[in-house]
Amino acid sequence: MGFAARVIEPDSTGKFRHMIHDEVDKWVDHIIDEVFVDGKEPTVMELSQLFAETKQKFFGACFQALIEQKYAELLEQEYAACPQCGKLCKKRRESLKEMVTMQGPSVLRRPWFYCVDCSYGFSPLDKVLEISRKKHQFDVQKKSTRTAAEVPFSTGSELFAELTDHAVSDHFMHDTFEEVGEHACLEDVIPDRKEIAKRCQGVRKGAWRPVLVVASDGAHVPTRPKAKRDEKRGKGRWQEAKGFRIYLLGRERIVHVASWHQIQNEEQFGEDLSFVASRIDQDDLRIGLLGDGADWLWKHMVACFPKGRQILDYFHCAEHIHKVAKLQYGEGSERRLEWVESTIARLFYAEVDNVIWGLQRMKPADSLAEEEIRKLIGYLDNNRERIHYRGDRIGGYPIGSGGIESANKFICHTRMKRSGAWWVKETGNEMLGVRCAIYNGTYDMIFENYKKAQASP
Ligand SMILES: [Zn+2]
Repeated sequence: MGFAARVIEPDSTGKFRHMIHDEVDKWVDHIIDEVFVDGKEPTVMELSQLFAETKQKFFGACFQALIEQKYAELLEQEYAACPQCGKLCKKRRESLKEMVTMQGPSVLRRPWFYCVDCSYGFSPLDKVLEISRKKHQFDVQKKSTRTAAEVPFSTGSELFAELTDHAVSDHFMHDTFEEVGEHACLEDVIPDRKEIAKRCQGVRKGAWRPVLVVASDGAHVPTRPKAKRDEKRGKGRWQEAKGFRIYLLGRERIVHVASWHQIQNEEQFGEDLSFVASRIDQDDLRIGLLGDGADWLWKHMVACFPKGRQILDYFHCAEHIHKVAKLQYGEGSERRLEWVESTIARLFYAEVDNVIWGLQRMKPADSLAEEEIRKLIGYLDNNRERIHYRGDRIGGYPIGSGGIESANKFICHTRMKRSGAWWVKETGNEMLGVRCAIYNGTYDMIFENYKKAQASP
């Protein structure tokens, strides 16, 4: 390769240097005016505030200068090929694009082309730079959506301005969130096969096989029917978000594999779980299935993970026992504690028949107690094959779904159950999808898909 090929055009870099120096001078002038005043002794906080106020204008201008020099050729382009038919089109006009990036505001004056055959207007520069049609560019959109996934839109917009010195309205935050959320579909929110295999490999140690835990649960989300902006809102109701969390119990640590929660029926839950199961190589793993007593949940978990060891969630089980104890023996009684402890100990050793026998012989304190005793007998009978906590412990299986409880709390409750928030099912599911993506480490992918969809005409 000859020397000539390596020459950088001194023209554009020289010009760029000049433009930046000009901006620095303007900024320095401003700072001098503000700070070097007799009697003024600004503190660290005041100086930092001054930087915060001035850097956007400064960096925004530098940003603009950089684009103008780096892409000078595209900005001066007189003819461009139509992206749809390839015909060469002549420049129609210069068009202004106002942009806001995380660096501040900039304005681009770029040529605009129009293909008469295709009735299609375009700017080649926008394509190269991946400029968003919105004023706030993708870098802002990505952070704003990430923020909205954590806190309500109005709080999010305030926090965003507070922490970044960039103002975005709660409407912008909401609308962008919904557009990104459309891309939070199961296939992309769940890590791909390769990534899951990598996570499994990471916890393996020699011949010891890690346990893959599949924990399912439902959580109630407040929902309302969709209404147009000026229409009266319909009556709200609580709907179940059904979900699962899959994680690996390694020797020393827990490694998250995938979470997925949606407001949906049992059938869709089953389909989704089956899809995720197909991405996991089950041969080399031990599998533990955790759930409460709900039959629908076991049906699907067993179908998707036929090898799995079924474990009735210890905490759910204990909850039922406490309930009976309270009604039968009264809140503060000694007998109550004694009975709870001995019952749980028996269940720990898988003596379910023994416990049921005792319950059947119990003389109910009243009709409420009688009803709960009857329910507990049915519950234990229904789940007898899933109660073997001592064996689970020895085998290294989990006995309680602390994992799903905390995932549920993280994914559903913290964002979905804010006071006064009632979700339209679609938006609620987008929120759940984006939150799962963040938890699963796939948010970048979701956003990339959104960006691609925005770019195509
Ligand atoms: Zn064309």
